Amino acid sequence: MSDSRKPEVAKGASTVSARPEVNEADEWRTAQRQFDIAAEIIRLEPELREILREVQREFTCHFPVRLDNGGVEVYTGYRVQHNIHRGPAKGGIRYHPAVSLDEVKALAMWMTWKCAIVNIPYGGAKGGVIVDPRKLSMRELERLTRRFATEISILIGPDRDIPAPDMNTDGQVMAWIMDTISMHRGYSVTATVTGKPIEVGGSLGRVDATGRGVTICTLAALEHLGMAPHESRVAVQGFGNVGSVSARLLDEAGCKVVAVSDEYGGLYNPLGLPVRKLLEYRAREGSLKGYPGCTEIGSAGPLSADCDVLVPAALGNQLTSRNARAVKARLIVEGANGPTTPEADEILQEKGVFLVPDILANAGGVTVSYFEWVQDLQSFFWSEHEVNQKLQAIMHRAFNEVLATAKERSLPMRMAAYVRAVQRVASATRDRGLYP
Ligand code: NAD
Repeated sequence: MSDSRKPEVAKGASTVSARPEVNEADEWRTAQRQFDIAAEIIRLEPELREILREVQREFTCHFPVRLDNGGVEVYTGYRVQHNIHRGPAKGGIRYHPAVSLDEVKALAMWMTWKCAIVNIPYGGAKGGVIVDPRKLSMRELERLTRRFATEISILIGPDRDIPAPDMNTDGQVMAWIMDTISMHRGYSVTATVTGKPIEVGGSLGRVDATGRGVTICTLAALEHLGMAPHESRVAVQGFGNVGSVSARLLDEAGCKVVAVSDEYGGLYNPLGLPVRKLLEYRAREGSLKGYPGCTEIGSAGPLSADCDVLVPAALGNQLTSRNARAVKARLIVEGANGPTTPEADEILQEKGVFLVPDILANAGGVTVSYFEWVQDLQSFFWSEHEVNQKLQAIMHRAFNEVLATAKERSLPMRMAAYVRAVQRVASATRDRGLYP
């Protein structure tokens, strides 16, 4: 911020009470702050704190893409590996105009903890390109993806770093990345990315996996809180991969979905929304906007909607000190990465909200990505039932382990999850003798 935009300090105000300006929406600050608290709780040795509170590798590239009109646009992309002590790096690729290096660093760190919580043998990574993909044609999107894949090809591969879909990327984007890497190698390297279409080495159950994991955590948390699914009203922010699958599966589990939203608006109906019809409407119209018979509540509407369970499944920094007090839900299950700032976290704790943190709640996606990678490496594919059963077992175990730590140490679920994850990564680092 330039000096001219800094808030003026009132004359005579004590300099002692003047707080340094913090940007609540800075995801990297959030990620480091969450880590610092966990490191303090487990009394992590100073050397390991220094190692784990930074990312191991960060890569920035600027690359040209030929547009359909004959012009050329230069785009900026990132790939960050936070930690690779427990195995190859793993993490999604995001296409969004607001992507930044700090955001990608935070997301990479969260991936490290996420893989550790569900105990799959990966470290954490993330990637992103600063782009609004809706402004590109399909051909432009393919050219951008192939060019970005070429840039990060020096980092990625089945033994090194395995990307997956994230916001605004999908199976098609993963197929282009896999094909580009395979063209470089001269043979098909299917295990180089996950979240691919089935015909090119994808896994059954991957598309639903993150929402299925969110649903498993929600039902487990409801049971813990003594709340019956059929008496629980659910609000979901975001109706993309994670949000729409969570809404559908929670609806199927007997919950009443009363509010949903996407970037174009939000819908509320206290009697319950017809989730399957909403899915058809969104597929036809491209958004939820204009669906009849509901109250329009705006994109942020679900966050403060009258409900029992809130699933933020859109962007980061949605629950902040400004709106956390307005949350009515008793249970929050974080489908999105980093939807809650530390300031909001404190407010929600004071309100007695039970929160299942992102690094646990949305770990179903990376878990089935791991299954996909294993299947690709073995060229031996499983049934959807087998995938879902294995996912259920891993998510249940992880939820119960985090809950047990929360009870033992009297910690909120987020810190309990952090404590388990950081301990696991720290042990791997010590066992390998990675620092003198
Ligand atoms: P997506 O692109 O499929 O969907 C995003 C949805 O959010 C869309 O419906 C979009 O309209 C909506 N949205 C965007 N801005 C919004 C706003 N301001 N208000 C309300 N809705 C808004 O993305 P996704 O894969 O579902 O990812 C959603 C979140 O889940 C991200 O934080 C992502 O990092 C996280 N996540 C995704 C996966 C995965 O497997 N896809 C796994 C773990 C975590």
